[in-house]
Amino acid sequence: MLKLKGIAAAPGITIGPAYRFGKEEFDIVREQIKPEDIPLQIQLFEEALIQTRREILELQKRISFDMGQEEAQIFDAHLLVLEDRMLIEEVISRLKKEMVGVAFIFSEVLKKYIEVFSKIEDDYLKERTADLNDVGRRVLRNLLGKKQKSLADLQEKVIVVAHDLSPSDTAAMHKQLVSAFVTDIGGKTSHTAIMAKSLEIPAVVGLEMATTRIKNNDLLIVDGTMGTVTVNPDEETLTFYRQEEQKLKGISEKFLAVKDLPAVTVDGKTVEVSANIELPEDISSVKLHGGQGIGLYRTEFFYMNRKDLPTEEEHFQAYKYVAEQMNPYGVVIRTIDLGGDKFLSQFDIPKEMQPFLGWRAIRFCLARPDVFKVQLRAILRASAFGKLKLMYPMISGIEELNQANSILKECKEELRNEGTAFNDAIEVGVMIEVPSAAITADLLAKEADFFSIGTNDLIQYSLAVDRTNEKVAYLYEPAHPAVLRMIKNIIEAGHANNIWVGMCGEMASDATFSLMLLGLGLDGFSLNSLAIPQLKYIIRSVTLEESKKIAKEALSLSTAKAVESFMEQKIKEILG
Ligand code: PEP
Ligand code: MG
Repeated sequence: MLKLKGIAAAPGITIGPAYRFGKEEFDIVREQIKPEDIPLQIQLFEEALIQTRREILELQKRISFDMGQEEAQIFDAHLLVLEDRMLIEEVISRLKKEMVGVAFIFSEVLKKYIEVFSKIEDDYLKERTADLNDVGRRVLRNLLGKKQKSLADLQEKVIVVAHDLSPSDTAAMHKQLVSAFVTDIGGKTSHTAIMAKSLEIPAVVGLEMATTRIKNNDLLIVDGTMGTVTVNPDEETLTFYRQEEQKLKGISEKFLAVKDLPAVTVDGKTVEVSANIELPEDISSVKLHGGQGIGLYRTEFFYMNRKDLPTEEEHFQAYKYVAEQMNPYGVVIRTIDLGGDKFLSQFDIPKEMQPFLGWRAIRFCLARPDVFKVQLRAILRASAFGKLKLMYPMISGIEELNQANSILKECKEELRNEGTAFNDAIEVGVMIEVPSAAITADLLAKEADFFSIGTNDLIQYSLAVDRTNEKVAYLYEPAHPAVLRMIKNIIEAGHANNIWVGMCGEMASDATFSLMLLGLGLDGFSLNSLAIPQLKYIIRSVTLEESKKIAKEALSLSTAKAVESFMEQKIKEILG
């Protein structure tokens, strides 16, 4: 038995056989050719490019149908590689000069391109090496007349073990036959993680050694909640996890039974339980799990995987769609939160020593009103079609809020002059995720329509712990008394000024803390769709009075560990 620890990317437990999915190794020999073979070799190359183009267009059509236009657009970059004149001409001229088989020449040219791209200090171009690799292998496969090894050929239910999974691997996959993903690389927001969550299967990524330690048909236990993979477990471990798997099934049925009921406590206090989304396509999962609106729409994903900037019309169409789909519930659009760990090459932002403390989010938007206004105008225009609200990320004090609002006012005036409809009374909220904002929440509450607590950043800034650095992950403690006191202060300041206070950081989806947050008076929780039924179940099982007592006791404790074990004990009593 071997236990591997990685990054928990999508929750749940699955037990099953391993299926190693690797890139096929092509055996390409350096074959000398005769001058009369050249035309045929060029023809073979052209046919391989055409065939590859056909395959990609077909794949794009299927993905667009299954997952939406945006996912399908990822393959536009692949199509561009096939039309790259420089690459094609280099292959043909080397073929003529070196008189070697075209497959060999193409693989050499491809290698050179990949090497050059991977060395460039530009995240966008670096990412393009994956596209080059993906499309290059398709061309080679077609040149060599090989049948594609694909996840579409699976015959039985398996756990896919791979170094990494590309969008075209997962798109082609036979979805009913994949019960979990296990990969060597990737983080919580990698494509594999996002895909696993939308398929509702567990995933553990960033294991580093998965493909070197796991063989085909090894029995695996994937615990996507804890981020562990057990290889060939002993009887005792297997029995334990089988019981856990059953328990989880039973529990989730209990939660799912209340998913469409309101989140109201036994003594009648109703709170809002909404979802965090990154793409308009995520809405189907929100509806499926009983989300009462969108509490955080992370719009920066709009800017990813593309070279150009999204236009006002593109923003507008996406926001209008989300607003209409979620009616009569509200949708909170967070304005772009670029920088930190979300780098976009379109903006040529210089590398910084401390990116999380640097030129990011609202700071970037205030410095680039040209970019900011495109989004604000689109949000305003879409506000005529549903219950849209907007909120600014990373506000550190009242001046930034005032500056952002004055740009918003300019946009409103422009639209009014153009005769375009919008909701003039659109609510404007502030994310409270910087300690200075948390401490001056009483001042901000006078200017904001609502607060949304962003604990992911609030914890990293108040405890001085980089949220992406695994070496200090043990210090990243949501239950730290400093964090709890800040949350209490934010909620009290909001309520003293009669504004609504919600939370959209990951802490809102951790069942351990839900009773305490409820007791502190939080008005709304915005979380990952999958966690919604469980939260509704918890809220519907307690009285507000009980939860207030629990919050009071939790806040009297002096360490995060003490708070956590106290809260775990309380939640166990409720969940049984
Ligand atoms: C947060 O910081 O808590 C938050 C919700 O925003 P993000 O995770 O996108 O920074
Ligand atoms: Mg944040």
